[in-house]
Amino acid sequence: MNWTNPLRCKFRLFANSLGHLLPAVFILLLAGTTRLSAQTFCQTVGGAGAMGYSAALNGMNSTGPYYIKVYIHVIRRNDGTGGVTLSQVEESKGFLDAAFGSHNIFFVYDCDIDLIDNTTFFNSGANTYCAIGQTNSHTDGIDIYIAGDNSPGGGIAENIPSTFFVIGSTGFGSVFSRSYVIAHEMGHCLGLWHTHHGTVTESGNDCNGNPIGGTQCPELVNGSNCDNCGDFVCDTPADPFIGFNVNASCQWLGSGTDANGDPYAPDENVIMAYTTPICMEYFTDGQGQRMRNVIEMSPVLQAVLVGQTVTCSGTEKDIHIYQNITYNTDMGVNGNIYVHTGAQLTITSNVLFAKDKGIIVERGAKLHVNGGSLSKCPCAEDWRGINVEGNASKVQPNAFSMPAADDAGVVLINNLAHVEWARTSISTTRYNEGWNSAYWGGMVHCENATFLSNRRVAEFMKYDKPNQSKFVNCTMESGGTGYAGATIWDTDNVTFENCRFYNMTSQGILTYDAGAIVRDGSSFQKNERGIEGKATYPYVGKLMIGEMGSTPNYFLNNNREHVRVESTAFGAGLEVVNNEFFGASTAVRVIGPSKYTIRANSISGSGILGIAAIQTGAMGWNQPNRVDYNGIQKPIGMIANGPNREMQFICNNFSTSIWDFRLFGSTSSGTGEIRASQGGPWYPAGNCFTDPGTEIDILTQGPTTFFTYYAYNSETEPCQRPLNPGNYTTILTEIANGCEVPPVIGGEPPTEDEYYLLKQQITGGGSSQQLTDWTERKNIVLNGLISEYVSSGDVASALALLDFEGTTTAKVMKYGVLVGSGDYQSATTELNALPSTDAELTTFKQVQHINLARMQQGLEYELSGTDSAFLESVATGDLGVRSYARALMGLLEGRSYEDDDELDYVPDGGESFGTNPGTGKTTIEKVSVLPNPTTGLFTVKLPEGFTATRLQVTAVTGQVLLDQPILEGQYRIDLGGKAWGKSMYLLVLRDAEGKSVHAQTIVVSQ
Ligand SMILES: [Zn+2]
Repeated sequence: MNWTNPLRCKFRLFANSLGHLLPAVFILLLAGTTRLSAQTFCQTVGGAGAMGYSAALNGMNSTGPYYIKVYIHVIRRNDGTGGVTLSQVEESKGFLDAAFGSHNIFFVYDCDIDLIDNTTFFNSGANTYCAIGQTNSHTDGIDIYIAGDNSPGGGIAENIPSTFFVIGSTGFGSVFSRSYVIAHEMGHCLGLWHTHHGTVTESGNDCNGNPIGGTQCPELVNGSNCDNCGDFVCDTPADPFIGFNVNASCQWLGSGTDANGDPYAPDENVIMAYTTPICMEYFTDGQGQRMRNVIEMSPVLQAVLVGQTVTCSGTEKDIHIYQNITYNTDMGVNGNIYVHTGAQLTITSNVLFAKDKGIIVERGAKLHVNGGSLSKCPCAEDWRGINVEGNASKVQPNAFSMPAADDAGVVLINNLAHVEWARTSISTTRYNEGWNSAYWGGMVHCENATFLSNRRVAEFMKYDKPNQSKFVNCTMESGGTGYAGATIWDTDNVTFENCRFYNMTSQGILTYDAGAIVRDGSSFQKNERGIEGKATYPYVGKLMIGEMGSTPNYFLNNNREHVRVESTAFGAGLEVVNNEFFGASTAVRVIGPSKYTIRANSISGSGILGIAAIQTGAMGWNQPNRVDYNGIQKPIGMIANGPNREMQFICNNFSTSIWDFRLFGSTSSGTGEIRASQGGPWYPAGNCFTDPGTEIDILTQGPTTFFTYYAYNSETEPCQRPLNPGNYTTILTEIANGCEVPPVIGGEPPTEDEYYLLKQQITGGGSSQQLTDWTERKNIVLNGLISEYVSSGDVASALALLDFEGTTTAKVMKYGVLVGSGDYQSATTELNALPSTDAELTTFKQVQHINLARMQQGLEYELSGTDSAFLESVATGDLGVRSYARALMGLLEGRSYEDDDELDYVPDGGESFGTNPGTGKTTIEKVSVLPNPTTGLFTVKLPEGFTATRLQVTAVTGQVLLDQPILEGQYRIDLGGKAWGKSMYLLVLRDAEGKSVHAQTIVVSQ
């Protein structure tokens, strides 16, 4: 038996420490108890305080409804075997609900099922009900203890009424706990006697040794004493004790007459009779009335009542809505609600959904959750959530009006509405046709709403027009593990204003090839990551996190990075502007070819690193990237690893203890590079460095490209001059950079005229500073124009401009524009035409061929084992373009990857810091292969203590080209590359058990 719990409810395990005391109690009980029949299913006789005849009770007319809290306990052997299963418990509950619901008595089951592992209990069942009933019992609910199907003793309720019973055993062809016998015992708990009570004298003791309470007298067939004799219920005929003596048609086979000589005609179908379980069908109306009256009168039963609770019992049934309707009463729905085209469903009440069920909003339909709530049924697994259909070829309708018939469906959630416990509370996909892209782009507007404990709050799919979906002043909080806020795939402009993302075990917002806007004081706290952006290709878009002039977004104590982006879009790219970052996490980490502005953020906290730019200029990707006007109070202010061409850091205010800024290069991640001049003669860089007594201002380390740093020659602001030497020179200027007002991103609006003028100037030549400045402005203008053209749908103009630009970066951009517009044929041609001048480009092409296959094949696509191994090797390797491989592995195989660049490459012997940074000695912490690419001669270096014992090289076809043991020290391996040809190969190092401990691509370029 498998107790793996599909519910989120917990199963408690309990080993009964009183077990060894029980046999004595058990014997005493048996000795003092006389039972009616050896072959029976119920030992209940009542005890002291039992409620028999009561004129007051009989005079009541309680109507209910009554909602009774119920706790279920499952008794198993010490080793956890023998008990009923979870689905069998559900079956038991079904008998209870069916028997009592029609009498206005409902059960509210606690979601925790209590497992009692106690062999003594298991072997004695209902015979030890007194001891069992003391185990994990409750006073605010009725405890049902379910023993094994073959545990002895049948069922027994402690008293009439009572708050617990024990049930087990099998008899008359039925398992008692999964038949109406369980309802029979519950009937006792709610005040019902056997129908033969009094007609046959019942005797016995309760758990305290007290004899059965109340007076007993035989009920007459003519009913004249039905009030105060027999079972005290008048619509149950006098029963002389059926004694299970019924035939297959449930007809009593016995006979007899009462004191008047009238023949008995007992009801063989009433649940409280000693009839066989399969003959049990119902409680009579009189029994229902007695139970409701007893509930009203009994203090112990009053204590088990709870407020009205909506349940989802009953058979599965879909609801179809064709006309406008408002739900204003609470309800449980055991099916899907379809809001059909032309109809609006407004919900102002609480609506609960069964597992996998939800609301389907068709095109041209609208769902308005207006202050109501949507959640799952009690104890149920998560409901599915809302599916809203879009129309990929149409602009989205306004969320506050009724959509036209072929417009996207609309989901409007506002006025303090709640959505809880959904798998995906809002999915912009068609129900059961998630990949039908024609139906992507559903319209979502949420305002003043709360999303709690949803596995995912919202899912946005590819939609090429500006996505008008918006969340304003919404709270999104998780309730456990496996939770995400919004995931956005390949669409731009989804907006979050003043929203709160708390405790997500993955990201608050996750984008794939997508933009988004996050502003107006949105808050990200205690998530695994605040915002994460991934790219499978160089897409055109805008991921805007914060903006000048609005309330800063607030990031606190996210577990990993507050913001992590692996390859941003070009065009507008990534903007991280005017945010506050607190806590241990790195504020912003950008990995791989990117376009970004990180501006005017306040960054502080205990974690080691403020900002990381990792190979953001890989593939020769040159973008006008800026990290400026930030206040950074961290041990390390900022690191730039590998190529980050054209990146400037300007006007930052550092307060650090290790380094303010480090430029790092290595043979594996590439030569460290930033813009050749930081600032210029007329506008010095303006950073204010930490007091040099405590740290290093600018550290260059490993192979780096020389740069010029322009600093204001000020006596009053000495912090602006970097003091320690490195692979850069400082030129002092007499002009101050006030660094007071951060510039507008992109500057003047771009025009084609300006672009062509700049191109002309650059071609004409100038000073190196002029060329640097013109190139930067030209790239800003180019990005702005591409962004404009693409968002207005003018792809042709974007392509023409990129053709004119003609650089490798422009060609990569052109490829991205083609992919984004869905022209995979031309994209493939463009990709093939890209040069293969370095490993970054070669690997990029290889990764993108896989990506193109994925996008072209859609649903049919399956990642091959070879491709998967290749992507994994790139994703875990050192190239900047690993970002694209990581995004693909994330999408296709759910993989995620971590970096700790700030901890990599830390030189040993800290004394060399800053004194000779250009040749700083580094400890090899990683496997390095150099040169790569090569014409065939590779040197593989292994770090000390590395555990690999074999080296393998395979072609991308999977053919093993080299397989040899690894000796000690350094290896020099001739691949014979000329023989194998110009291509990429996979290098794998394995440990003694054959497990891969390192994998990376190597390129033979010849
Ligand atoms: Zn009974």
